[in-house]
Amino acid sequence: MYYTKKTIVFHNGNFVKAAEANTDLFSQTLHYGSGVFDGIRAYETVAGTQAFKIRTHFERLLKSSARIHIELPYTAEELVNITYRLLEENKLENAYIRPLVYLGPNMRLTKTNEVNIFISAWKWPRYQSNDQLDVMLSSFQRPNPRASYIDAKITGNYINSILATQEAKMKKFDEALLLDGGGFVAQGPGDNFFMEKDGVLYTPPEGHILPGITRQTILNLSKELDFEVIEKLFTIEDVAQADGAFFTGTATEVAGIKSLNHKPFKKDWKDTMGYQLFTKYRQIVTHGEYDSYSII
Ligand code: PMP
Repeated sequence: MYYTKKTIVFHNGNFVKAAEANTDLFSQTLHYGSGVFDGIRAYETVAGTQAFKIRTHFERLLKSSARIHIELPYTAEELVNITYRLLEENKLENAYIRPLVYLGPNMRLTKTNEVNIFISAWKWPRYQSNDQLDVMLSSFQRPNPRASYIDAKITGNYINSILATQEAKMKKFDEALLLDGGGFVAQGPGDNFFMEKDGVLYTPPEGHILPGITRQTILNLSKELDFEVIEKLFTIEDVAQADGAFFTGTATEVAGIKSLNHKPFKKDWKDTMGYQLFTKYRQIVTHGEYDSYSII
């Protein structure tokens, strides 16, 4: 699914066949989750293939790395160029791009000196298959922001996301919604959350969330559309009273939510502010309306 015999990946300075690339089983990242990654989407646009906000994503990768004492020997600019070459090598236009920074052998809990980078790309449909998501309140909370850097994309943090997703799937829901340690709504396992109530959008503030690049795009687009968005803490009871809700993320894009714990939201997805933002988001990413460098 992620690669064929022909797929080329970028691995530590070289473009090599995915099937022939390998790694050390004593990698500290493999054992303890001490790596960082990001997720970027490239779209076929009128201006050619454009990876949406690619520079911002690589700046986040560098920031995430620094947080866990990894010095990556590349600049964001270099990583942008490598990625466009990778897309060309694989003849990909619409693609999901996955850079992963992982560490060399170290079975101790100390900083590891050997740093590896791997970038791959593949065709990946929207992470959520529809805009009628049945979402459950997860029994898992977001990790304590004082236990790790949860605003960085650290591989080890994602066990929380896997547990919450799997719990939701086992209960026949499409997705989970997680609270923070204080009992307020935080986000989905790999996406940020917005709800609409009486013509205003609400989204949790920074603190217990991964402040997504798509979330920021939606905040910017809301301004353009004259939509009021309030970043504040709210409860699951507030969500139950909402008119509509949606998730945002690079893989997810903008995905409408139909119900919380099987209780439907008041509005149909197509009548919501979220739907208007979804339409605008698609226009921007597929029409190259913004170039990848100018968006923050
Ligand atoms: N939260 C988590 C935990 C994520 O992994 C992601 C995906 N990167 C998001 C939110 C959405 O972030 P972005 O919009 O930057 O993709």
